[in-house]
Amino acid sequence: MIDENDEPPPYENEERETVLFTVSAEVAQAAIAQVASCGACNPRADWPFEAVLDRVIQFSGVHTDYIMLEAPACPRCKATVTEKTFVEWEGGIEVNVDAGKDSTRQI
Ligand SMILES: [Zn+2]
Repeated sequence: MIDENDEPPPYENEERETVLFTVSAEVAQAAIAQVASCGACNPRADWPFEAVLDRVIQFSGVHTDYIMLEAPACPRCKATVTEKTFVEWEGGIEVNVDAGKDSTRQI
């Protein structure tokens, strides 16, 4: 038997917790404001939009599924951006990634 999972499970007897979050138009606009372009107009776009939403909403270390009430438009090409669309994230460089820790969770 190979035990390659050394870290203690964050939740007892649970799969990774999934939070379902409904994204208001306000939050979607705040997130798209950090986006420079999308996968439709920029082949270098490599962040899923949901990662931007994670940062705007400050979910960290929690797997979140988003439902967007109003999908925003790419600021460059006006294509519809969904939570799965790859985008170029203007604020992505300065982000201090500390994923995997649940201590900063704020709801
Ligand atoms: Zn675009």
